[in-house]
Amino acid sequence: MRQSNWEEVMGAAMGPVARYLRSLPDRSVYRPADPGDIRVLVGGPLPEEGSRPEEVVAALARDLEPFVAAHASGRYFGFVIGGLHPAAFGAELLASAWDQNAGLYAVAPGVAVAEEVAAGWVLELLDLPLDASVGFVTGGQMATFTCLAAARHHVLRETGWDVETAGLQGAPKVHVVVKSERHSTIPRALRFLGLGDATAVEVPSDDQSRIDPEALERVLADLQGPTIVCVESGNVNTGSFDPFGAVAEAADRHRERGNPTWVHVDGPVGLWARASAGHSHLADGLERLDSWSTDAHKLLNVSYDSGIAICRHPAAHRAAMSVHASYLVQSDGAARDQMDWNPEFSRRARGLAVYATLRSLGRSGVEELLARTCSLATRFADRLAASGRAEVMNEVVFNQVLVRWLSPDGNHDALTDRVIACIQADGTAFFSGTTWGGMRLMRISVSDWATDEEDVDRAIEALLRCTG
Ligand SMILES: *Cc1c(COP(=O)(O)O)cnc(C)c1O
Repeated sequence: MRQSNWEEVMGAAMGPVARYLRSLPDRSVYRPADPGDIRVLVGGPLPEEGSRPEEVVAALARDLEPFVAAHASGRYFGFVIGGLHPAAFGAELLASAWDQNAGLYAVAPGVAVAEEVAAGWVLELLDLPLDASVGFVTGGQMATFTCLAAARHHVLRETGWDVETAGLQGAPKVHVVVKSERHSTIPRALRFLGLGDATAVEVPSDDQSRIDPEALERVLADLQGPTIVCVESGNVNTGSFDPFGAVAEAADRHRERGNPTWVHVDGPVGLWARASAGHSHLADGLERLDSWSTDAHKLLNVSYDSGIAICRHPAAHRAAMSVHASYLVQSDGAARDQMDWNPEFSRRARGLAVYATLRSLGRSGVEELLARTCSLATRFADRLAASGRAEVMNEVVFNQVLVRWLSPDGNHDALTDRVIACIQADGTAFFSGTTWGGMRLMRISVSDWATDEEDVDRAIEALLRCTG
């Protein structure tokens, strides 16, 4: 076999990587960039002649690093972007080096068992049924897609329709019920599944973006036939939690009226409340529902990309995802074939970093991470409110804060957008904006294990400078 100069490639990558990671506490979090400036560095025609791998890696590290947004900085509070846990980082290095095609146990047994163990740990931590099925996918979007594919199978099968072989043409109508403040990945998953978005029935949400359970009850009472309901654990704006107990009861009554019913919980961030003693009451009752999508790359701080699809009904999950072909070697139930639970065919051993992170943190470490990030969100809210320059618009129940910057001239929307642009250009910290309740607001999402009180206070100082 031909050999390569692996050590030189590692040297070219690892020197800059170590310096980058070490620089995180002090480096600028973000700098607005012109794509032209980046194209000058990495663009040009496809080279006719190749270069040595270590030269390519060294050039990439040199040219692109100035344009890397420091997502793993303790002062990156934009969107809901998790940090980088060192155990996840190390496991990802192993996954890259081992280059496993982790679709089948027979093809890559070691990582298949590590993913199987990680799946069990996730169920235990989230206090979900231990016989639920788990797929390690790329993110919340694909987790929701996977769960809703299982839902589509399940509710149609109860009517005697096999959607996997017969498709949706001619199938009984599947009613989809969503809330007004759903995340944009819900309509996108519905689109991918041929269920449509505009045809979904919308249930109103309250002032914290929680579904109105009485309105849900009324909507369901008018529907007959297979029904999929989507609710949410951790709203992307407010961080709020739907009233799952009431949702479960409404779904049970709908089912008792003879309607095949499945309730999916979109919970990339908020499902983790169940792993924190101080927050688990927020997510009470969701264990009664049918499927759950979550992320490891947000609050758990696993590297990108890493999402988790969980179903109460493994048979439906497997029927929607599994694939058989004469040349595949499938295990007979003695081991877990990831392909049964994932939409991918060939795939990276994504669950390995989840395994490593959970093993490194332990149950108490996960709990402490959640308690800390959420208490830092409260610190943000309290200090910004006390400044008199900002109003906190949501009930801060988890890691999410919605802030309106108050302008003396009354044009709060304009000031809020100016503060967001100013802090992004400043680079001390990063925040993103949203429109919620008709207002322009700044979102704060504390999602990094590395964030400490000093980061919060430095970010607040920089923000207050931006209001001047
Ligand atoms: C982040 C998020 C998603 C999407 O997850 P990805 O991992 O980005 O695909 C969906 N729903 C909610 C509530 C989220 O916060």
